[in-house]
Amino acid sequence: MASHTPSTEGCDAAADAIRALTSFINTSTLLDLAHRFSATYSDLARTSTDHFLVTPVTALPTGKEKGKFLSIDVGGTNLRVGFIELLSSDGPGNGDGRNAFARIKRSHDRDWPIGDHLKMDQAEDLFSWIADCIAEVVRAAVEESVKGSEKPLGDEILLGITFSFPMAQTHLSEATLLPMGKGFAITSDLNLGKMLLAGYERHCTNSPANGHSDLSRKQSLEPLPRIRVAAITNDTVATFASLAYVVKTAPNSRVAMGLIVGTGTNATVPMELKNLHPAKRKDLPNPDAVETVVINTEWTIRGTDKPLIDLNIKTPWDFTLDANSDAPGFQPFEYMTAGRYLGEIVRLVFLDVAPQEPGVDTPSSLQSKNALPTRFLSEVVARMHQDEIAKELETRYPATGWQSAYWTPARVELLQSIANAVQLRSSALIAAACIGLLDCVQDVTIDKVIESKQISGKGRTIQPNVEELVIAYAGGTISQYPRWLETCQTWIDILVQNGSEANASKRVVLREALDGGIIGAGVLAGMTDEIR
Ligand code: ADP
Ligand code: MG
Repeated sequence: MASHTPSTEGCDAAADAIRALTSFINTSTLLDLAHRFSATYSDLARTSTDHFLVTPVTALPTGKEKGKFLSIDVGGTNLRVGFIELLSSDGPGNGDGRNAFARIKRSHDRDWPIGDHLKMDQAEDLFSWIADCIAEVVRAAVEESVKGSEKPLGDEILLGITFSFPMAQTHLSEATLLPMGKGFAITSDLNLGKMLLAGYERHCTNSPANGHSDLSRKQSLEPLPRIRVAAITNDTVATFASLAYVVKTAPNSRVAMGLIVGTGTNATVPMELKNLHPAKRKDLPNPDAVETVVINTEWTIRGTDKPLIDLNIKTPWDFTLDANSDAPGFQPFEYMTAGRYLGEIVRLVFLDVAPQEPGVDTPSSLQSKNALPTRFLSEVVARMHQDEIAKELETRYPATGWQSAYWTPARVELLQSIANAVQLRSSALIAAACIGLLDCVQDVTIDKVIESKQISGKGRTIQPNVEELVIAYAGGTISQYPRWLETCQTWIDILVQNGSEANASKRVVLREALDGGIIGAGVLAGMTDEIR
């Protein structure tokens, strides 16, 4: 029994760690944080050329877009490919808009994990692999199409691309890659569409394929239809566009923002050009014709973490993680909030505070960087019963040497409480950032000085005619990590309610844009007449 009881010293260290991670999670500090995020965002929009980037999306979908498109979504972890058909708005699902997903027909959906070797490869190899995956999907669609129809997909397929990495864009159909982050080695300035089409080209001819897989050799036998890039966008913009297409709801509801929390995190919001650095105008094809443009905030890139430094919210483990990351200092906000890093924070904290006992060594398999994936925390540590967790942990991180079991109930409990604190912190930070961003574009208000009597602790009674501001979200972490979404919504509600009297008739709602990357790329491909 004694071995189950952490030493007093260990207990203190663990309690201190949980406090260090969560003590800022209270209404007044989060309001202060949201207010500072807002000021930082306004400043970066006006002065930085690395943040608050204009995108070619200067109009929102009307919900009337039509057509069949091939869509791909290149994420930090997964590649998704599929066909999207946008049916006419006279079809099923038109009405209050809530069932408008019925107007989107999907087919031949496939997904692939992006192997680590591909991330480290030359850009040509990564894009040639992506092109092979696209060819597999196109081939399946061609083969399934009605036999006898000579060119079932026509001469040319229109492609919508969601690409979850920074890019420079002046036209909807063109993009230049910028350094990628998220564990990808590619740093060069390459034309994204050209790279993809170059990889796909060999599938359009009868000549023997020079591809590296059996599959591509087989595919060379029958030429596939050509592809034309209609739209390229990032995942937050796609998520925003997909829900804006779908939510043609009551007049008191509108999609105000797009949010991704998956491998990484990012957000998108429409902004007026006059609030942006003048140099950003030249990135638009027709700046004099537009007032508002959808902005890719890149809200994780260095500079956005000023409020976290000023309020002393970063912990020693955040500094360690950042220093040991692939790109130290590059995306500090992401390192505290996104799926790629949550497990690593938990691991660092655990190694630091787990009580030491003579003769009991920490499992060696837990000692290496990234040994504790966020997905494991989500599927096992945050979800299962204690004894099941202990079993899973013992299998994955077995006791070292002669010890019988490392994962005592006390250690399992410690790991659970650290993971819980790290999840709470991620959700609360993103909630403050969302409200900061919505304050920055004046969709909600956070008063500069919050009177303590203003903070009610309890929710206000919701008024009838509330204006609903929708945050369209997507991503593995926000949608799958237990309690992540609920915690974030709870803090969003508290911040809106306590931020200002001016928010009395507003509600900010997180709503999932399921497969927003794939659908949004299709929707934008269908908008090429509206965006020029
Ligand atoms: P991408 O960033 O490639 O678009 P996703 O949005 O699906 O991918 O997010 C994948 C990330 O989400 C993974 O890196 C992981 O951190 C996290 N994740 C994956 N599965 C789960 C899960 N079951 N629960 C919580 N987080 C998950
Ligand atoms: Mg994604």
